[in-house]
Amino acid sequence: MDNCIFCKIIKGEIPSFKVYEDELVYAFEDINPITEGHTLIIPKKHSQDLWEIEAESLTAVHLASKKIMDAIKKVLKPTGVVAMQLNGKSVGQAVFHYHLHLMPRYEDTPPLPVARWELTPGNMDKIRETTEKIKAALR
Ligand code: 5GP
Ligand code: ZN
Repeated sequence: MDNCIFCKIIKGEIPSFKVYEDELVYAFEDINPITEGHTLIIPKKHSQDLWEIEAESLTAVHLASKKIMDAIKKVLKPTGVVAMQLNGKSVGQAVFHYHLHLMPRYEDTPPLPVARWELTPGNMDKIRETTEKIKAALR
């Protein structure tokens, strides 16, 4: 896609710190790393988000994430890694080319706010109603 920064990165028109590449996937370091080793994994075929991405690309991105997770664990020794992926402007997606973030956390890094929300029991009737709505839409 012409105006997409990540497509330009794949084509080499914008430089990047590449860590991994295969037929379907490209992975590189985020230039605004939240911690050391913050890596983005993207499909070579442009798609905007999880709604748009095809199964082949999605599978390839997530299989590559496992390889990169193993490498990050080996060399950076994080205490844990957040795998995060945003869909939609309203939730903060800034680049509209599907990407999976790998964000290592270390002894001195606090949990991400998104991974630590207050647990409040829901209304079971409402949860049941929502379950039925989603199940019906899946048919
Ligand atoms: P989003 O909010 O869409 O999930 O995250 C987009 C990410 O892309 C951000 O973490 C941002 O730092 C990263 N990013 C944006 N432009 C570039 C770029 O030109 N090169 C690299 N390596 N990362 C970028
Ligand atoms: Zn793109």
